Amino acid sequence: MSEHLISIRDIQVNYGNIQALKGISIDVPEGEICCLIGANGAGKTTLLKAIVGLEPLVAGSIEFDGQLIASSEKRKSLATNEIVSRGIGLVPEGRRVFADLTVEENLEMGAFLIRDEARIREKKSEMFELFPILEKRRRQKAASLSGGEQQMLAIGRALMSSPRVLLLDEPGLGLAPLIIKHIFDIIARVNREEKVTVFLVEQNARMALSASTKGYVMETGTIVLADEARLLLENPRVRGAYLGE
Ligand code: ATP
Repeated sequence: MSEHLISIRDIQVNYGNIQALKGISIDVPEGEICCLIGANGAGKTTLLKAIVGLEPLVAGSIEFDGQLIASSEKRKSLATNEIVSRGIGLVPEGRRVFADLTVEENLEMGAFLIRDEARIREKKSEMFELFPILEKRRRQKAASLSGGEQQMLAIGRALMSSPRVLLLDEPGLGLAPLIIKHIFDIIARVNREEKVTVFLVEQNARMALSASTKGYVMETGTIVLADEARLLLENPRVRGAYLGE
C-alpha cells in the first residue's frame, strides 16, 4: 500500500492548441480529505477527467495505489470502466443524475460493477442510512429532487461501488450555504466512518480548505501553492484571492 493513494506526476492535457493542464503534480494522501481550489476555468474539471481516463495525457502519468492508470503512452493507460473498478468513484460537476430514472434506479446504476443482488440491496440500505431523504424519495424521478438532494444522490451513486477514493467536482456549486454545510458534513462522515479517501475540487475555497487536511491552489493549468489546508487558510495570497479578504 502506498502512502499516497493517487500520485499525479507532471501531467499535461491539451484541448487543441490550448494547454489546459501545464505539467502539474499532486499527491492525494490515503485516508484523508485533500482539495484543489481554483477559479472558474483553472482546469479543475480537466484534472478529474484525466484521473478517470476521460482526457488523454500529452505528458506525465497518474498512479493509483502505486499502479499506473494513465500515461502519455496511450497503451499504458486504462479505460474508464477499469479505473472505476479499481476503486475510483467520480461525482461529476453539476450533479449529473439520470433525470428520468427514480432515486433507487440511479443508485442501482452506480452498482453496475456488482453482480450480487443481495450486495446491491445492502449498499442501497447503507446509502438510505447515510441520506435518509433519499429513502423517502426512493420512487421519485431524480428530476423532481432539489439541487441538494440531487447532489446527495450523485454522491450516493458513486459510493454504491464502494470506492477507495471519491473524486468530487464542486459539490457545493449552486447550493444554499446550509445545504453546502450538510453535504460537507456527509463527505467528512464518509471519510471518517467508511475510510474513503476524498479528493475534491472547489471554487468555494473556505468550505473546501476547512474540510481538508491538505490543499492545492490551481491557476490557469498550473499549481501555484500546495500546503496543509489550515496553513492555506492563513496564507495572505489565498486570503486575498480566494477568501475575499
Ligand atoms: P469550471 O469551474 O468552469 O468547471 P475548471 O477549473 O473546472 O472550471 P476546466 O473546465 O477544466 O476548468 O477548463 C480548463 C480550460 O480548458 C478552460 O480554459 C476551458 O475553457 C478549457 N476547456 C475545457 N473543456 C474544453 C473542451 N472540451 N474543449 C476546449 N477547451 C476546453
